[in-house]
Amino acid sequence: MRYMPEPFKIKMVEPIKMTTRAEREAFIRDAHYNAFSLSAEDVYIDLQTDSGTGSMSDSQWGAIMRGDESYSGGRSYYRLIEAGKEIFGYDYVQPVHQGRAAEKVLFPLIVTPGQYVISNMFFDTTRAHVGLAGGRAIDCVCPEGLDSGAYFDFKGNMDVPRLRSLIAEHGAENIAAIVMTITNNSVGGQPVSMANMRETAALAKEHGILVVIDAARYAENAFFIKEREAEFADATPLEITREMFSHGDVFTMSAKKDALVNMGGMLAVREDGPLVDAIKTRVISFEGYLTYGGLAGRDLEAMTTGLYEGLDYDYLRYRIGQMQYLGARLEEAGIPFQNPVGGHAVFIDAGKLLPHIPYDEFPGQALTVELYIEAGIRGCDIGSYMMDRDPETGEQQRAPFEFTRLAIPRRVYTQAHLDVVADALIAIRDRAAGIKGYQITWEPKVLRHFTSHLKPVD
Ligand SMILES: *Cc1c(COP(=O)(O)O)cnc(C)c1O
Repeated sequence: MRYMPEPFKIKMVEPIKMTTRAEREAFIRDAHYNAFSLSAEDVYIDLQTDSGTGSMSDSQWGAIMRGDESYSGGRSYYRLIEAGKEIFGYDYVQPVHQGRAAEKVLFPLIVTPGQYVISNMFFDTTRAHVGLAGGRAIDCVCPEGLDSGAYFDFKGNMDVPRLRSLIAEHGAENIAAIVMTITNNSVGGQPVSMANMRETAALAKEHGILVVIDAARYAENAFFIKEREAEFADATPLEITREMFSHGDVFTMSAKKDALVNMGGMLAVREDGPLVDAIKTRVISFEGYLTYGGLAGRDLEAMTTGLYEGLDYDYLRYRIGQMQYLGARLEEAGIPFQNPVGGHAVFIDAGKLLPHIPYDEFPGQALTVELYIEAGIRGCDIGSYMMDRDPETGEQQRAPFEFTRLAIPRRVYTQAHLDVVADALIAIRDRAAGIKGYQITWEPKVLRHFTSHLKPVD
């Protein structure tokens, strides 16, 4: 497979440190084998997340100089509102400081304690905010999404027959909202088809249920629809985006992903009404005045410019092409991963690569440590290590997958970097049988994977 050449040239560089294997062994030991505790300076290729880690363009940096820092009614705010109308077709667009801020403002307004909220799969902060609002989150992804080896075009889809039976079982009045995550982050950045969005929206409408789009990767989802749904082969990503958002009533967005900024977010409502008034009150208490929402005027400028750049077809072809190139190199080497690759990451199936390590010795974390030692690459466990213990029994829970996620920052790394990643995985595969599992020596009660201490199993 040919690498899709970059549709940009490089004007500014950020040096990264090369380290020796012996140094890396010491760094990761000192970090208690937890990659979050490494100093980022000691990482050569950082694939921990694609959130807020992208490079801004010269147009975005230029726009920053035009930021209007007025407390209210700034020019930069009105430019964002225009973009919100043009790209998404929504009446009300509220800037906020990041995605979870939008969730914090929204969910208490739409969820009555005890109600259910159903999603094609919740992102962890979205799930947390549903819970904080007293709601009960249910994941409802299509069965293909849970089979890592089998190819399927739209593994992020909602399981519509199951959604229908959940509505029948609990009663529409007990379902506060349906959340459509595009792309579906938690199953590997997998896309949702337009057909599935139409079907889900029609079912919601039939029962009078609100549809919320969790829109962090709107542009990557639009690209996959263009490539894989015949009806949209000639449509632009912008046209596809407009239709996608017509199937929602509200959207929350982390702009740190496809909108190509290092910090920012949005909360938008398709039609003006009482929900908008309620949102305004909460935004002023939590985020700041309506026309800046926790961001500087210059941040709004960079975000608005990024919203358009994220939809550029050549950029998207290159972006998804990077993921596909890495996937093709792994496939050739027989390294198992969530197939096809998603929009923002390659999910290595560490459970299959390290079959001798049981789930409670964390294969995804073992591979994360090995990648760092092998080549200074930082990934992230998305498996049983990331799961907290059962709050009642204290038992280790078993995740449906044991993945090591390699998230690719936008416009940051080159083909040669991706080759380093593929070569490191091949070297690890060749010595896989000698790799040990891990046990936890210290852990907090919740969200343990960020701060736990581990050691190799003897
Ligand atoms: C990142 C993300 C969020 C949360 O956004 P933050 O900007 O990290 O607060 C919510 N949903 C999805 C799908 C995301 O990827």
